[in-house]
Amino acid sequence: MTAMKFLIPLLGLTVAVWAETTPDSVPARQEPHHHVMFENDALRILSVLVPPGEETLNHSHDHDDASVCISGSNMRGKSGAGEWSKPGQPCTLGRAGLTQWAGKAGSHAVGNTGESLFQLVLVENLHTEFSLDSTPLNSEIGSETVTRENRAFRVFEIPLAAASEKSHTHTMPVVTILISGDAQFDGKHVTETGTWVYVPAGQTHSLKANAASQLVELEIR
Ligand SMILES: [Zn+2]
Repeated sequence: MTAMKFLIPLLGLTVAVWAETTPDSVPARQEPHHHVMFENDALRILSVLVPPGEETLNHSHDHDDASVCISGSNMRGKSGAGEWSKPGQPCTLGRAGLTQWAGKAGSHAVGNTGESLFQLVLVENLHTEFSLDSTPLNSEIGSETVTRENRAFRVFEIPLAAASEKSHTHTMPVVTILISGDAQFDGKHVTETGTWVYVPAGQTHSLKANAASQLVELEIR
């Protein structure tokens, strides 16, 4: 994976370039660089892959989403028929960006002007209405602390020491993503950055580290 020292926060680029949905846009799930990997009534998981020199079609987002940086590159963006932005700095490995699109859908295109693959795990919350009485920040699941949350998601960043093991239960559906290391998710051996598993609400799951590992968990509210 790309050297950590070159990964500087980019988050905000894709947010900064959203605009009203334009007639020539396609839904994100139909855009060729957005690959739908899993879908149920509550959520959709997409793998976003934009190789160097490529750009996406103008595409629309209409569901709140969480994007987790798996591989950063210098990305530029534009909304509709607007001008391309200047390329931003690569996103930080494992950093989650949260965007609230529901009720204010927007469309944009992004292009990779850098030399690395741009890769995200993108999770859409398919609900269209959200409760305002969200669980307060810093609520915990087991010993884990929420690092970010909004109306649609809660984000946990979980370090696992080598040879450690833990299990816990989420009250919401969760997507667990390997950021680095070598681990077992419910016995499934995972070593590749960006590998994810889906765990239904209320199901106890185990996380075991063969080597020191870093995980991100996204709860879908
Ligand atoms: Zn978990």
